[in-house]
Amino acid sequence: MTFVTRFAPSPTGHLHRGHAFSALTAFRAAQAVDGRFLLRIEDIDATRRRPEYEAAILEDLAWLGLEWEAAVRRQSEHLADYHAAIEALRAKGLVYRCFKTRKEIDIGRAPHEPAVPYVGQPLPVGEEAERLARGEPFAWRLSLAAAREALGGFGGLTFVEEGAGPAGEAGLIQARPETAGDIVLARKDVGVAYHLAVVHDDALQGVTHVIRGHDLFEAAHIQRLLQALLDLPTPVYRHHGLLVGPDGKRYAKRDKAQTLREIRAEGTSAAALRAELGFA
Ligand code: GLU
Repeated sequence: MTFVTRFAPSPTGHLHRGHAFSALTAFRAAQAVDGRFLLRIEDIDATRRRPEYEAAILEDLAWLGLEWEAAVRRQSEHLADYHAAIEALRAKGLVYRCFKTRKEIDIGRAPHEPAVPYVGQPLPVGEEAERLARGEPFAWRLSLAAAREALGGFGGLTFVEEGAGPAGEAGLIQARPETAGDIVLARKDVGVAYHLAVVHDDALQGVTHVIRGHDLFEAAHIQRLLQALLDLPTPVYRHHGLLVGPDGKRYAKRDKAQTLREIRAEGTSAAALRAELGFA
C-alpha cells in the first residue's frame, strides 16, 4: 500500500516552531517509507484567511527543506464539493437546520463553565418554514440521534492510533463522537465546518496516514463518524505531542510564538532549526 500523508495548515497566521515540528514529522514519515507528502491549504474560514499568510507558508516550508507534490489543494476552491457532501448527509436525514444562536445555547452558562455540547432536533415543519421565509440565519447540524440510528450505534466506530492522544491513548481506539454534541457542518459566516472539509479531502486525496498534533486527537473521534456516514475510508492516525517552549508552554499563534520568518531573519539556518527540533 502506498503511504500518503499531508500537512494541512490554515493560512490564518505565520507558521511557528510547532508547525515546523508537525510538518517535518509528516514529511520525514513519508520519506522514510518512500511515500507521498501532500500540502493542503485549509482556507475555508473566509473571515480569518489571508493570501499573504498562504504565500508565507509556502515560502517558510520550502526554506525548512520540505518538498511536496505540485498539486496543492486549496479548500476555498472546492466549496461545491463540501456542499455536495452536506447534501448527501441531508438526503439521508442526518442533518437539520438549527436557528439557535450561540448566545441562546449558552443561556445560563457561567463564563468559567465549559460550553456544553449542543444536542437538538429539527423544528416542526411549519415553524421552520416560517423562519426560513423570514430569512433567519441557521446552521446545518449533524444529528447524533439520526447518526446513531443509521449506524446501529457507534460501537463499530474505531480507528487506529499509531501515535498517541494527549492522555497516551494508543492502538485501537473506540470513537466517542457523542462528546461533541450535534456539530455544526455549515453556517452563514463559515460556509463549511473544518471537520467535513478535512474528512472529504483526506479521502479524495487518498491520505492513508493523518499525522498531526495531539491537540486534534478529539477531532479524530468526530471525523471517524463523518467517514462512516459518508462511506469514506478511515486513515491511520498518528498524533504527536506538542512542542513546548522554554517556559513549558506550547507554541501557539495566540501566545505570539516566534515565527519561522523571525527565526530566519535572526540568521538561524534551516539546518540549525531542524536540529533543534530533533530532525538531524
Ligand atoms: N487545518 C488544521 C489546522 O491548521 C489542521 C487540520 C488537520 O491536520 O487535520 O489546525
